[in-house]
Amino acid sequence: MRKILTKSKKNIIVILIAVVSMALLLTAVAMLSNYSDEVAVRADAEALNRTLYTKATLNGNMADYTAKARALASVVSYCETEEEVISFIHGISSKSDYSDVRTVRYFVGDTLFDEYGNEREISDLANNYRANYPDVAGYIGTFEDSVSVGGKMSVIGFYAPTPDSAAVDAVVVYYARSKLQTFFPTEAPADAEFSLLVIANEKNEIVVGGDKVENSNLKDALRLRTGELDSVNSVLKLVREGKDGTVNVKISGNDYVISVGADKDVFQDLAVVELYSVDVLCSTSLDFIDTIIMIIVLFAVIAVFIVVYLVIRRIQREKEFFNMETTDTKLQCLNRNGFEKTAKKILERNNNSNFAVVVVQIRHYKYILDTFGTDEITQLLTHIRVACAKSINLEETFGHAEDGQFLLLLHAKGREDLIARLKTFSYLYTQYKGSHKFDIVLRYGIYEIDSTENIAVSQMIDFANEANNAIRQATAQNANMQVNFYDNELRRIRLLNEDMELRMEGALRDGEFQVFYQPKYNLHLGKQDGCEALVRWYDPKTQKFNPPALFMQLFETNGFIVKLDKYVYTKVCEYISYTLAHGGTVYPVSVNVSRITAVQPDFVDYYYKTKRKYGISDGLLMIEFTESFAYENYETLRKIVDGLHEKGFKCSIDDFGCGYSSYRILKSLPMDEIKLDKFFLEKSDSESRDLAIFQSIIQLAKNLGMKVTQEGVELKEDVELLIEQGCDVVQGYYYSRPLPLSDYITFVANSREHNITTGKGTLK
Ligand code: C2E
Ligand code: CA
Ligand code: CA
Repeated sequence: MRKILTKSKKNIIVILIAVVSMALLLTAVAMLSNYSDEVAVRADAEALNRTLYTKATLNGNMADYTAKARALASVVSYCETEEEVISFIHGISSKSDYSDVRTVRYFVGDTLFDEYGNEREISDLANNYRANYPDVAGYIGTFEDSVSVGGKMSVIGFYAPTPDSAAVDAVVVYYARSKLQTFFPTEAPADAEFSLLVIANEKNEIVVGGDKVENSNLKDALRLRTGELDSVNSVLKLVREGKDGTVNVKISGNDYVISVGADKDVFQDLAVVELYSVDVLCSTSLDFIDTIIMIIVLFAVIAVFIVVYLVIRRIQREKEFFNMETTDTKLQCLNRNGFEKTAKKILERNNNSNFAVVVVQIRHYKYILDTFGTDEITQLLTHIRVACAKSINLEETFGHAEDGQFLLLLHAKGREDLIARLKTFSYLYTQYKGSHKFDIVLRYGIYEIDSTENIAVSQMIDFANEANNAIRQATAQNANMQVNFYDNELRRIRLLNEDMELRMEGALRDGEFQVFYQPKYNLHLGKQDGCEALVRWYDPKTQKFNPPALFMQLFETNGFIVKLDKYVYTKVCEYISYTLAHGGTVYPVSVNVSRITAVQPDFVDYYYKTKRKYGISDGLLMIEFTESFAYENYETLRKIVDGLHEKGFKCSIDDFGCGYSSYRILKSLPMDEIKLDKFFLEKSDSESRDLAIFQSIIQLAKNLGMKVTQEGVELKEDVELLIEQGCDVVQGYYYSRPLPLSDYITFVANSREHNITTGKGTLK
C-alpha cells in the first residue's frame, strides 16, 4: 500500500514538472512571437525620446542667443533717440562684446530698419515674427539676406522687444548661419546613425550633421538610404509642418526609425531629424527579454532533465525490482516467478505453436540435501541449470523453482519428440559427478499446453507438477528417467480432490470417517499380538469405504490430516476404554501419524492428554511414523519419540525398506518396533541377495531390541520364510484384513481359534 502511494505521489510530481515545463516553453514561444510587435512600439518611443533630448539641447542654446538679443535690446533701450540707436548698432561687430554679430536691425512700429536707418523691404521671417509675437523674444528663422557688402548670405535672426519707453520698439540680431552649428550638438546622440538639423524650406536643407550624410538635401539624403518614398515623404511632411513624430523604414532589410523633433513656435523653420536602428534602440530591452526567455528555457531544460532523470531512475528501479522478483540469484537463472512471466510472453508471441511445460524434480532432493549438504546440492543444481541452458532452443525458457525443481517450456512436436529431448537433457546431467558420486534420478512431469484452454502459466506448472507427483505414487521403477504426462486421469483426480476438499469437514462431523482394525500375529507366541488402526472414508452415495490412498495425500497437502489423525486416535482411545470398562480383551493398537500431525507443537501433549482422559494404561498405544519422515526430520523425530516414550507410548517405524532405508535410523532412533514394507516379500532377480539383506536387517533390529513386524503377508510360504528368518510379528491378509470395529471385536473374542501356523485364518 505504501509502495503504491509513494509511486503515485512520484507520478504526480513527474507529471507536474512536465506540465510546468511545457507551460514555460509555450510562454517562451508566445513571448517570442509577440516580441517583434512590442519591439517596434518600444523603438518608436525610444527614438522620439532621444530626438526630443537633442531638441532640448538645441532649445537651450537658442535660449542663450535669445537672451543675448534681449540684453542688446535693453542696451538699445537706453538710447534716447533713433539716431543714437543707429550709431550704437552701426558696425556693431567691431565692438568687442558683439564681435560674432553680423548686423542688427530694429523695428519702429511694424517697419524694419537697418543699421543705416534705411527702411528694409519686408523680410518675411522678421515681419512675420513681429506680427505673431511682438512682445516675445525668440528665434525668427534662417534666410538669405544681403546683410553685408559681400552680397547675400545666409543668416539667422533673434528678435527682442524693447521697453515701451524706448526709442525703438524691437531689435533683431543677425548671425552668420554657421552659428547654427554651435547651437546644435555637434555629436549625434549615442546610437544614432545620424542626427541632422534641417531647415524647412523648399530644399529641406540640411544645415548641421551634413557630414554624416552624402547630401545637403534631406529628401535626397533619405532616398539614398531607403527606397520607401512614402516614408520619406512622411518625414518631410513632419519637418515642414514642424511636428514631432516617427516614421518606420526598412534599410537593406533591417528595421529603422526616423524620428523628427520640431516646434513651429520655438524653432520656427528648424527641425531635428535622427535615424536609429531598431536593433540598437532595443538592445537593452532586447537583452532583458532575451534574459527572461533564456531563464525560462533554462528552467524548462532543467525541468526536462529532472523528468528524464526521474523516468530513467524509475525504469532502473523497476528493472532491479523485476530482477530480484524474477531471478534465482544463486543459480543465476529465472525463478518460478520469472519463468512464469517469460513463458507467458513466449506463449503470446507464438500462439500458433505447440508447447509443453515440464517440471523436472530431483528425486529425494531433501534426502540428498540432508545427507550431503548445501554445497553439494548447489553444485548439483548448477549442473542441472547448465544442462537446462544447453537443452533449450529459441523461444523456449527454463527456470529454477524451489526445492530442486526445474521448470522448462519446450516446443512440443508430440510425445515422442518431447521424450527424445528429455533423453538428451538426461544425458547432459548424468555427466555430473559430484564429490559424493550418488546417482541422481530426475522425474519429469509434463503438461502439454492445450491452446484452446486459456489457463495461466502457474496453473500449467501445477498440472505438470501433479503429473510429476503422480510418479511418486506409481510403483517405483528405478529407471534413470521417469516421465509422466498430465492427462485425463490426473484431471479426474484433480477434480476429485477439489470435490473431497469441499466435503471433508462435513464428512468428519457426520462420522463418515471410520476406523478399521487390522490384527497382527505374533509368530513366537502363536497368537494375536495387537492391531493397526486404519482409516476409511465411507461414501453414503456409493455405500462404499474409500481407502486412504484416495485422500491421504490431499489431506497432507491441505493440512486436514491433523484433524483426521486426532479423530482416528480419539476413536481408538474410545474403543479401548469402552472395551476395558466392559471387561473385554484389548490388544495394543498402533495408530498412524502423518509427519504433518507429528510436527504440530502440541502433538505429544495432545496425544498424552487424550490418553489420560480415557484412562488408558501405558503400553497399549503405539505410534507409527513413516520411514521417509525419519530421514527428513531426524532430529525432530528423535525429540518426539523421546517425549512419547516418557508418556507411556510405544513407537514404531513404518514402511521400512520402501524408501531410503538407513541403518542410521535403526541405530539412532529408539524405536520399539520396525515394520518392514511389503516390498521385502517381492521376489527380485537375485533371491539370495534379497535374503541376505532381509536377514541382516532383521538381525540388526533384533540386536537393537526392536520388534520386527512384516507387513502385507498374504501367503503361507511367506509366513514360513518369516518364521525361518526369526521375524517376530506378521500383519496381512493371510491373518486378517482390516476389519470394521464390530467385526474386530468379534475377531478378538475368537482370536484363540486363529492359528496361522496351522493354516487357520480368516483368509478369503
Ligand atoms: P500402512 O500404515 O502401511 O498400512 C498398511 C496398509 O497395508 C493398509 O492399507 C492395509 O490395508 C494394507 N494391507 C494390510 N495387509 C495387506 C496385505 O496382506 N496385502 C496388501 N496388499 N495390503 C495389505 P490402507 O488401509 O489402505 O492404508 C494405506 C496407508 O494409509 C497406510 O499404510 C497408512 O500409511 C495410511 N493411513 C491409514 N490410516 C491412517 C490414519 O489414520 N492416519 C494416517 N496418518 N495415515 C493412515
Ligand atoms: Ca502403518
Ligand atoms: Ca506400512
